[in-house]
Amino acid sequence: MKLVTREQWGARPVQRGLTALPSARGVKVHYVGSRVEPSPTKGCGAHCRAMVRGIQAHHIDGNGWSDIAYNLLVCEHGTVFEGRGKGVLSAANGAGLNSSHYAVCALLGDKGLVEPTDAMLNGLVDAIGYLRNHGAGNEIKGHRDGYSTSCPGDRLYAWVRAGARRPDAPEEKPIKVVVRDGIALWPGRVLEVRDPMMRGEDVEAWQERLARRGWRIDVDGWYGPRSRTVCRSWQRAVGLPVTGVVDRTTWESAWSWRPPVASEPEEPAAP
Ligand SMILES: [Zn+2]
Ligand SMILES: [Zn+2]
Repeated sequence: MKLVTREQWGARPVQRGLTALPSARGVKVHYVGSRVEPSPTKGCGAHCRAMVRGIQAHHIDGNGWSDIAYNLLVCEHGTVFEGRGKGVLSAANGAGLNSSHYAVCALLGDKGLVEPTDAMLNGLVDAIGYLRNHGAGNEIKGHRDGYSTSCPGDRLYAWVRAGARRPDAPEEKPIKVVVRDGIALWPGRVLEVRDPMMRGEDVEAWQERLARRGWRIDVDGWYGPRSRTVCRSWQRAVGLPVTGVVDRTTWESAWSWRPPVASEPEEPAAP
């Protein structure tokens, strides 16, 4: 991920402090939504930094907010700009909706630059991944989900709905999970934290099994860092190598493993 820090883009200081948000359900995607001029240069430079400064000025001076509303912003070159940053409440999703999702804004307009570039989509995936590594859950939504707005525009929203995948990511083929006598058979795919994140019926089946066994895990079909943490705890508990990767042995142990029971003294054999 190509990250431009606040210092590097020339951010003004935060005006009145920000609220910590150590974790959230996921990330909401936004766009600028007015006219956005495409960059005059092929590389990322002064144009993009000036745009981020302009948004911050608008939010502080125009809206009276403490800082730029978004946690991160992404330009047409795929550069990720640090807004409020990680672990902080945004001001972008609408009243009451900021504590459930962090906010990432694409520097995309409804006039001028309206088509997200591949680099921008890759940058958005980078930004979402970064927030996931710092407390964001797996949900990816658009600003318009649960709030009356056109944001993030039809093109970006369609991309969000289609799974917010990298443009060159190969099509995933759906995985089927076969259950026999209450036991889900190993579907043949090793589950691990990857970019893009693995998801599917197999992930969901394994999460659901662990949840049933009393482990605190989101049953959402995405194999993210939280699932990996639960996987490690599980492996530790049942005496498997602690890898955070659901291989065949780890998968099958979720159905077959029984806690050891104290053995009863055997009855003496009858004479
Ligand atoms: Zn928005
Ligand atoms: Zn740029």
